[in-house]
Amino acid sequence: MKPTKTLSVMLTHQCTASCKNCGTFSHPLNMENLPFSVASHYVNNIDTSDFKVVVFTGGEATLRLDDLVSLLNISNSRGLITRLVTNAHWANDKDSTVKMISKLSKAGLQELNLSTGDEHLKYVPLINVVNAIKYSLECLSVSVMVEVTKENKATKASLINSLISNGLSNNELNMVGFIESPWMPVNFRDNIIYDKNNTISFNQAEISDGCSSILNTYTLNADGRITACCGIGQKTIRELTIDTCSETNLPTLSTIISEAESDLIKQAVSVMGPFQLLKLGSDLKSSQEWSERIAHKCQACSLLYHNKNIQSNLIKKLPDIKSKIINSIVIDATIKKQISGYIYSEKLTKINGRENNA
Ligand code: SF4
Ligand code: SF4
Repeated sequence: MKPTKTLSVMLTHQCTASCKNCGTFSHPLNMENLPFSVASHYVNNIDTSDFKVVVFTGGEATLRLDDLVSLLNISNSRGLITRLVTNAHWANDKDSTVKMISKLSKAGLQELNLSTGDEHLKYVPLINVVNAIKYSLECLSVSVMVEVTKENKATKASLINSLISNGLSNNELNMVGFIESPWMPVNFRDNIIYDKNNTISFNQAEISDGCSSILNTYTLNADGRITACCGIGQKTIRELTIDTCSETNLPTLSTIISEAESDLIKQAVSVMGPFQLLKLGSDLKSSQEWSERIAHKCQACSLLYHNKNIQSNLIKKLPDIKSKIINSIVIDATIKKQISGYIYSEKLTKINGRENNA
């Protein structure tokens, strides 16, 4: 079976919050906006045999509410699954929350993904997240991403306690997906202190898995860049930008995909993951920079793409990388051959046809 893809749409990089280390550099004064005509062009022309999900993220997509509603309607009419990532700034009380949820779900929204944690809580109180969960459960699938650092006060447990004290039953709580995700610095040189249990050591890197976002999620950024993932590193890693779009320049998604998939390092990030690649490219000195100090895959990815020493070591190991990818694809292909070998044989051809983009 062909893996399905996700289109991530950042209508705006404006946000009601100014979280330190926001991966998209969003804040109230950031006026980067993706024109509606560009966003609707891509949603209208999406190949639904390839793409199954559209995610509206940002920035705070609800600041472009009319455009968001129109795009949800289009996505819905095309049979796509729709998800909104939001900080819940609009969920101040029952009335405003019910009004927003009803507008979004009538337009076809299916999944609500709420972001919270110590940084978010400086701008959006926890009661908003509680309201958003409480009044969405009837019509939407809800998940919450909680930022995690060593010092974080807001945790999954504290959020669950608040939800219980605000009247949510165990049955309702069981319907919410909670994800604790390490909060990472956007500048790979900055340090954030994590609990040791959350960091990856040099030895653990070997068993760390691939990045599920790269080559599966393509992002239309509010500044017009089209990137090959929706990760935190996609704004600072130049190599992840495949092309740009505007009202007068609308490269097709199939061209973007083809360009991204022809890059051996992106294939390696997808199959082996950035931690395994970091290990492969690190000598003792470079491994001390990251072993047991970083937690997030995108941190590893950022280091991988920015550290010249690691890059030059990786270039020497391209034959190893190539065979690891081919082996992994062959194993996958063997298992999935009875279903369909299409995408795997296509990938092999491309990898054999081009060495790297370093
Ligand atoms: S709420 Fe999200 S998009 Fe807004 S500043 Fe914080 S991290 Fe960035
Ligand atoms: S690990 Fe790299 S490729 Fe994957 S989502 Fe993060 S920045 Fe993107």
